[in-house]
Amino acid sequence: MDLDDTPEQAAYRGRVRDWLREHRGEAPVLRGPDALTDEQEIIAARRAWQGKLAEAGLAGVTWPKEFGGQGLGPIEQVICNQEIAAAGVPGILDAIGVGMLGPTIIAHGSEAQKSRYLGPMLHGDEVWCQLFSEPAAGSDLAAVQTRAQQTDDGRWRLNGQKVWTTNAQFSSYGLLLARTDADVAKHNGLTMFVVPMDAEGVTVRGLRQISGEAEFNEVFFDDVLLDSDAVVGGVGAGWGTALTTLMFERVTIGLGGEGLGFNSARFAGAIASDPHASRDPEVRARLGELASELMAVRFTGYRTLTALQRGQIPGPEAGLAKVTIVNGAIKAGELIADVLGPDALEDGGEWAYMISFLPGLKSAGGTEEILRNTIGERVLGLPPEPRLDKGIPFSELRAKEASRA
Ligand SMILES: Cc1cc2nc3c(=O)[nH]c(=O)nc-3n(C[C@H](O)[C@H](O)[C@H](O)COP(=O)(O)OP(=O)(O)OC[C@H]3O[C@@H](n4cnc5c(N)ncnc54)[C@H](O)[C@@H]3O)c2cc1C
Repeated sequence: MDLDDTPEQAAYRGRVRDWLREHRGEAPVLRGPDALTDEQEIIAARRAWQGKLAEAGLAGVTWPKEFGGQGLGPIEQVICNQEIAAAGVPGILDAIGVGMLGPTIIAHGSEAQKSRYLGPMLHGDEVWCQLFSEPAAGSDLAAVQTRAQQTDDGRWRLNGQKVWTTNAQFSSYGLLLARTDADVAKHNGLTMFVVPMDAEGVTVRGLRQISGEAEFNEVFFDDVLLDSDAVVGGVGAGWGTALTTLMFERVTIGLGGEGLGFNSARFAGAIASDPHASRDPEVRARLGELASELMAVRFTGYRTLTALQRGQIPGPEAGLAKVTIVNGAIKAGELIADVLGPDALEDGGEWAYMISFLPGLKSAGGTEEILRNTIGERVLGLPPEPRLDKGIPFSELRAKEASRA
């Protein structure tokens, strides 16, 4: 997003830019010939960099001051994302913790949980992961089957499996949604827990992606014992707590496109490096089309920002930003690959990672189909589709569709 700053915002932007100019040499190098290659070294360097950003007030910009944040608004967060991207340095390592799980603990956690977990999370001393999705519970998250049963001494015994857990391989803690009561309606029988990832019975197994990296994992829980104070937000109140996380997830992804480097000037720069392609009418038309889509997202993003700035919760239309940004970036990747040829896929190069990682982002933070359905029904007022929670399994719907075709 490219904002018309007020004088105060311009002054804030200037301070962020000055700090980044002075300290960018301390940031880890993740791409190009000088990039770090050892995974452990990369994690250590990114944690240290997050600590520096936090010290400078460039992490947890919207967190309340009492928890180490800056108590600023979402516009300052976006300014910060923009300046970090423009400086060509990585953002914080634990975007999931600071962007989604920390705010969930701030909203629903006990005082003891807030004072124990938030500081180390913000500074990258303890990284967190989101233990929500399961093999049979993704879009239909309320179907989670991981069970937590209370023991006689008030502790909880955890059994089950999660999947697609980003950063689990180096996380200290996870925020986990489990079923604590199987005899009530599925949304009512859920509870949120803090799980120490080094607890006995926790096994993390990496899933390697086409990008070559193994950012997400399967996580297994075999008779893991959790203390009674591991519950976040109350027993049976897990669905409401999870919705808070998902709301922050939507906002983080929707407003974070710029921070991820998905902007048309950067894409145009890659194409301009090939003088022949940059004069080709088809290439220019494709670039123009995706630049206008990204511009439309920017203006839709202004609406989300305005709602957030007024203290409102953004509506379902915020999901449109995620769908459009991801599809715009996928189209940009395809265009850049067409123009640069195999060079675009060179290992460690600027584009290979983006091109191979993006298809996954179509699912992360709500799949494209789910978001489009939500927008169709709740924003455009189109007739609703039969829903899983009305008792019609999605597999049956698909089978019916297939038999109609
Ligand atoms: C890069 C990445 C990182 C992730 N990180 C995490 C993480 O850290 N923690 C975590 O808990 N999860 C994480 N996830 C999981 C993510 O939340 C899920 O992929 C997502 O919720 C979709 O669930 P699923 O993969 O089980 O797909 P499913 O829900 O099984 O869907 C499969 C397909 O069916 C479609 N579909 C399903 N239901 C409907 C319906 N009612 N109507 C129409 N179409 C439907 C979907 O759109 C999709 O195309 C991550 C995923 C990715 C890709």
